[in-house]
Amino acid sequence: ARVVDPGRSEDDRVVEAALRPRRLAEFPGQPRVRDQLGLVLEAARRRGRPPDHVLLSGPPGLGKTTLAMIVAAELEKPLRLTSGPAIQHAGDLAAVLSSLDEGEVLFLDEIHRMSRSAEEMLYLAMEDFRVDVIVGKGPGATAIPLELPPFTVVGATTRSGLLPAPLRDRFGFTAHLDYYDVADLVQILHRSAGLLGVEADEDGIREIAGRSRGTPRIANRLLRRVRDWAQVHGEGHVDLAAAQVALALFDVDAVGLDRLDRAVLEALCRRFGGGPVGLSTLAVAVGEEADTVETVAEPYLVREGYIVRTPRGRAASPRAWTHLGITAPRSAPL
Ligand code: ADP
Repeated sequence: ARVVDPGRSEDDRVVEAALRPRRLAEFPGQPRVRDQLGLVLEAARRRGRPPDHVLLSGPPGLGKTTLAMIVAAELEKPLRLTSGPAIQHAGDLAAVLSSLDEGEVLFLDEIHRMSRSAEEMLYLAMEDFRVDVIVGKGPGATAIPLELPPFTVVGATTRSGLLPAPLRDRFGFTAHLDYYDVADLVQILHRSAGLLGVEADEDGIREIAGRSRGTPRIANRLLRRVRDWAQVHGEGHVDLAAAQVALALFDVDAVGLDRLDRAVLEALCRRFGGGPVGLSTLAVAVGEEADTVETVAEPYLVREGYIVRTPRGRAASPRAWTHLGITAPRSAPL
């Protein structure tokens, strides 16, 4: 597993529970989302009614699950967690919905991966607080409407474009989470260090933040690896030197690129003169599956402007050449 993978690993699961901010006021970053959500929740609280359903979109590791937990905490209601892949049949969803208590918050992670039939049931339930339970089969089947107490759905998705419009429209409040800037990550890391009982100074924290790809989950993971290094090789103090040495050991460079990212850039620049080159050719050159290059390395490289996708394939941007310390040849495409 890559130490810069934004996805949640088993190891993260346990630690993350301890590191999550519990209330909106302790949630650093995403100021617009925080203010908007704060308003929606406060208004609902004053009305004594559940708020609109909330859709959170954005890349993994930016705090969608954390915000869902915060919504429930701010409303002082229980949270029920499930996910699109866990709901493959409408019946699975009916079971969850019919057991909700009034005002409860239902978190549906990866909501874009729910089955079509469950989706249809969900948007009726979200609108009318009702599910139709089908009894019997064939021509004799009848739909028995079941009233539900009002509740709030918090949906999370990395791909909001994949949600069918009728489902998307049932969310009265939609927020997109963006990558965090270094100052926010610094704040998050100071907080995490405190919770983990790790002594960390500003330079060490700043170094980790700069290599965390704008993602709190990665920041917290890198902090744990630097802490490990500092405990084994020193007094356990996270400082600049510890961060630099430990992150070099884990192949995370000064801007957060790892071995695969750099291999892709090296191949693109050194072997293909900066491209453009097709994905599969590039993948063969780095000895990986095309899918791995496309889904694991490319998103960050494209977002940060190291690589540009062109109709004729991938091309290196000036930033890629600079990062590798190579002068771009005159023939370079960009
Ligand atoms: P997602 O559901 O978007 O994949 P999570 O909510 O599970 O992300 O967050 C991943 C980790 O990052 C958790 O440990 C969480 O505590 C931390 N995290 C995310 N956003 C923030 C934030 N704004 N402040 C502090 N920690 C955060």
